[in-house]
Amino acid sequence: MYADIIIDITNEKLDRIFQYRVPEWLEQVLHVGMEVVVPFGRGNHERHGYVVGFSETCDYEPDKMKEILRPAEKSVAIESHLVELAAWMKEQYGGTMIQALRTVLPIKKTEKAKQQRIIRRLISVEEGRARLEEYRHKNQKASLVMKKLNITQEVVRALEKQNVLEVYSEQIYRNPVKKTEREEKTVVYTEAQKAAIETFREDYRKKDYHTYLLYGITGSGKTEVYMEMIREVVAGGRQAIVLIPEIALTYQTVMRFCRRFGSRVSIMNSRLSPGERYDQMMRAKNGELDVMIGPRSALFTPFPDLGLIVIDEEHESAYKSEQVPRYHARETAEERARLEGASVVLGSATPSLEAFYRCRKGKYRMLELPGRTEGSLLPTVDVVDMREEMSAGNRSILSDRLHSLMEDRLKKGEQIMLFLNRRGYAGFLSCRSCGYVVKCPHCDVSLAIHKNGRMVCHYCGYERAQVKVCPSCGSPHIGGFRAGTQQIEELVKREFPEARVLRMDLDTTRSKEGHEKILSAFAGEEADILIGTQMIVKGHDFPNVTLVGILAADMSLYSDDYRSAERTFELLTQAAGRAGRGREPGEVVIQTYDPENYALVCAAKQDYESFYNQEMHHRALAGYPPAGDMMAVHCASENQQQLEIAVDYLAKFIRQIAKKRQAVVI
Ligand code: ADP
Ligand code: ZN
Ligand code: ZN
Repeated sequence: MYADIIIDITNEKLDRIFQYRVPEWLEQVLHVGMEVVVPFGRGNHERHGYVVGFSETCDYEPDKMKEILRPAEKSVAIESHLVELAAWMKEQYGGTMIQALRTVLPIKKTEKAKQQRIIRRLISVEEGRARLEEYRHKNQKASLVMKKLNITQEVVRALEKQNVLEVYSEQIYRNPVKKTEREEKTVVYTEAQKAAIETFREDYRKKDYHTYLLYGITGSGKTEVYMEMIREVVAGGRQAIVLIPEIALTYQTVMRFCRRFGSRVSIMNSRLSPGERYDQMMRAKNGELDVMIGPRSALFTPFPDLGLIVIDEEHESAYKSEQVPRYHARETAEERARLEGASVVLGSATPSLEAFYRCRKGKYRMLELPGRTEGSLLPTVDVVDMREEMSAGNRSILSDRLHSLMEDRLKKGEQIMLFLNRRGYAGFLSCRSCGYVVKCPHCDVSLAIHKNGRMVCHYCGYERAQVKVCPSCGSPHIGGFRAGTQQIEELVKREFPEARVLRMDLDTTRSKEGHEKILSAFAGEEADILIGTQMIVKGHDFPNVTLVGILAADMSLYSDDYRSAERTFELLTQAAGRAGRGREPGEVVIQTYDPENYALVCAAKQDYESFYNQEMHHRALAGYPPAGDMMAVHCASENQQQLEIAVDYLAKFIRQIAKKRQAVVI
């Protein structure tokens, strides 16, 4: 028998399968996904590798074939279906097979099992009392025992020798989830919730597995629906993975799942120790868990019989890996579900264009939850044109409208959130007088200012000199937007000296619990105003917030990315959704230089479908995803000339092979 091995070295040249002979003594032991030690290269250095397949014939002279030395010690084997998933990821996203294998195996080496030492009495209580009396007369050590069990090893050993006690060890798993009371809350589902659950259940019972998009605003009851679907899957003896963006993975969310599913729920996140992570994986593998909750990487939880993958807030950019393989959790979840016979449920209030597009094409099934469950009203939205503020002589970051509303709320003792949109800030130029933004004439994305004073398109490389006056209206007030959260905090403190202000951004959340501390202080009404970047808009409920101010709303429209309008719509919709979660109706002020922009107009009306239709129209015109597929090829060299020759050649080559398909190379 021969084994196909992927050598554990990140090297493009070695990114292929190497065959090794399987020694007889390993034939019964070896399986796909196992880590082994093999002799490699001319020097026969010992290298590690993973078994990815077996064959009975070899493609090479049998007597020259090297033999596997032994299984690697302390290694964790990859489930065989995850090896298949890794192969798919390599094909789909590039990178080497070993990079893909490392991705599906989040924990590489075994951790020491945690031991619990147990001391058990071997004699009856009466006998024990008698012994104690005896010791009291004969033995000094008894006094130690009497002192509140503050006993030494020596004493225990002495008692063990006399068969009074026995000491043994038991392996226990580290559990990051604290015990909670289980509570069977009886929720009366709304008609829409019932319909969503029923559609899923009918398909699932027929083993008719699909991807569903559960589309509903925050607070519409999506999490309740996930839990009911999971209950169905778990009742049938299968397991579920719930992906939640790390930033939204709060204690409250985890507790909600634990109250419903008891101790068979666990979490994976970056704050766990290696030992804790290892134990969660082993618990999942050994069938001791039904539900795993975690960010992107929890997708690779080695469950024996996975039935459902839920991806909450599926539009979040955190689901795309920044490292090779640059996989997307949504697509990878679909592939894993296909390989293992499971369903996928995506949830969002502002679905990614990709997901909504697939619904329209009939590839996903739409489950819709309209409205908030408690019937609270959507906030009213004011769009303030900052160009008018400027011509009226107000050069402050705060418009007159927002300023007076803030005064009003402070008087009433209600809370305010100020959200500074700094997402995708790439140093673009915009005109304060007319709102004009300098964009690439070919790609319709904003030009980034480079240190050398040139303006550059990050898609096609188009360049031009930096402008000093607005090309559209001639105003000299053209420049980058530099205000940060700190400046806004200073301004707010100057204008409203009595207000208690909290600021949340990368600086104030650097410490381990900084994030939670600020949010809970604000929730506890220890402050009147919370100022922050996008991290304040994610799914937190503050019932006393009745005013949300969105500063520089258009900032994210001009990041150099074809998704900038989508990101802006999503952020503004979420930020606006923060206002009026309690009984008081909320108000939102959106400050912008571009009030007619469809992303803004649709966000103000919380009208996703209208946004989707207009945005898809733009994508189709430019051939951007999901209307077309796009592939970025990054080339690098120390030698500029060589690089240019190579890139030219590559472009020609692609045009040639793409002839029959519709491919555009820029
Ligand atoms: P989402 O996940 O869409 O934000 P949740 O499932 O968290 O929504 O629901 C928001 C709140 O409404 C939660 O407190 C939840 O317990 C409650 N809720 C959801 N569905 C119902 C229902 N049918 N009846 C009563 N309360 C509900
Ligand atoms: Zn202008
Ligand atoms: Zn361009």
